Amino acid sequence: MAASSHSFEENLEEALAHLQRFADEPLRHLIGGMSKPSVSGEMFLNHSPIDQSVLGDVASGDLPDIADAAEAAAEAFGPWQALGGEKRRQLLNNLATLITDRARQIALVECVDTGQTMRFMSAAAIRGAANFRYFADMAPSVANGRSLPTETHINYTTRRAIGPVGVITPWNTPFMLSTWKIAPALAAGCTVVHKPAEWSPYTAHLLAEIALEAGLPPGVLNVVHGLGHTAGKSLTEHPAIKAIAFVGESSTGSAIQAQGAATLKRVHFELGGKNPVIVFDDADLDRALDAVTFMIYSLNGERCTSSSRVLIQDRIYQEFTNRIAARIKDIPVGHPLDPDAVIGPLVHPRHTHKVRSYIDAAKAAGATVHYGTDMVDRPSENFVPPMLFTEATNDMPIAQEEIFGPALTAIPFSDETDAVKIANDIPYGLAGYVWTNDVGRAHRVSDALDCGMVWVNSQNVRHLPTPFGGAKNSGIGRDGGDWSFEFYTETKNISVALGPHPIPNLAR
Ligand code: NAD
Repeated sequence: MAASSHSFEENLEEALAHLQRFADEPLRHLIGGMSKPSVSGEMFLNHSPIDQSVLGDVASGDLPDIADAAEAAAEAFGPWQALGGEKRRQLLNNLATLITDRARQIALVECVDTGQTMRFMSAAAIRGAANFRYFADMAPSVANGRSLPTETHINYTTRRAIGPVGVITPWNTPFMLSTWKIAPALAAGCTVVHKPAEWSPYTAHLLAEIALEAGLPPGVLNVVHGLGHTAGKSLTEHPAIKAIAFVGESSTGSAIQAQGAATLKRVHFELGGKNPVIVFDDADLDRALDAVTFMIYSLNGERCTSSSRVLIQDRIYQEFTNRIAARIKDIPVGHPLDPDAVIGPLVHPRHTHKVRSYIDAAKAAGATVHYGTDMVDRPSENFVPPMLFTEATNDMPIAQEEIFGPALTAIPFSDETDAVKIANDIPYGLAGYVWTNDVGRAHRVSDALDCGMVWVNSQNVRHLPTPFGGAKNSGIGRDGGDWSFEFYTETKNISVALGPHPIPNLAR
């Protein structure tokens, strides 16, 4: 991952210039193409994860604002569908181009809003544009279904956008994650009400602003800011919203399912993970070390697919954990705009408190805690060093719970059966990683892992046509390729008689 060509000072100066507007004026909702304050006039403060300074006021939405946005999305739905796939393709490609043009701005704002480092965020903004391009190009063919003829009937299926949908996103890589949901929804012909995370509201606004600039009609993409239990809950309960695409914690997913029950919401959930990376003693250990450390210490460890449990074959456990412990001494922690920093501040003191609490939990359970580099003159407690927990067993809280920070739990295993047993003995089932040079074992273990995605001898390398999502408590549904469109559309079967096939005559 190349460091940015810009210096820290250049990044800081530019970021401050982009953030000034949020300090000058409260951030408002974007509904039907209009910037609007909350109906209640309520606002909340958005703080910098770097030093806890106030970045600005943000409108705090609730039911009246969601109702306004849902109405705008419902009004825009018919015309957006009627525009057709080809025109939607053009508009969404325009949007992708404008994201690319403003990728640096998006990345700088995202870094200060979330604490993620520039080293990763510059690529994340570009990936957001790639997501739009990929789904834009599929827009003209979304309606195409299957042909299922019989001797007497021609059956064919068509797909049509389900209606206005709600998208609710978390704070870890908010811009890129929101594009995974919003791009296919818009390409399919749905209109969207987006409720971004309250700890990272800014780039959702930039995306909606760019969408208007790209020529998307007002009301096609709306943003309502606010808290989960007010704006989020109202969105999941609104009758005009036909489906909810949600990325966040498993417990929030359960709440959303309950909230959406009365209106029979279709739901798509991408939830938490505690993903095992299994390192067998025959693996290429140098590459495995790079991948293991990359997948837990990049993106501040605030990553759903992070390799947060490393299962290491007992013969190499000591040597491999020693190497991880040495490696984390060289991982720079710093200001998110410092081009050399890998780990930036965690997003919020409440989250930092949670992550730090696992240090005590590890010690109490009998594990050993190793620390990597720490930042000298930390501007706030949100900066935490990379951590490694050794002598861990799979029943410890550090092995069972999602920490969502730069903390890796290392567990030994004896053989293939033991590795699979430990890997699956967890409520989550998002991703798994397998490191071995035995081809047969790679396939056997991949098949036995109870999760949605497996990478063999690789870190997470996303390929947009492939399905992304989790099993067990890690999610419902899949993103990527045509799987995304299955969620955002209704399928209809049309059956036409080819001739005078028998029809029962019920008359006496
Ligand atoms: P969270 O569940 O606390 O919040 C996510 C969003 O849900 C926020 O916008 C929040 O305001 C909203 N929300 C909260 N309560 C709600 C309610 N009752 N009704 C409607 N909306 C509500 O999650 P977070 O702390 O922001 O994000 C971290 C979590 O996200 C981690 O568990 C992580 O694993 C998960 N995540 C999963 C994936 C994936 O692809 N599986 C990707 C990224 C993050």
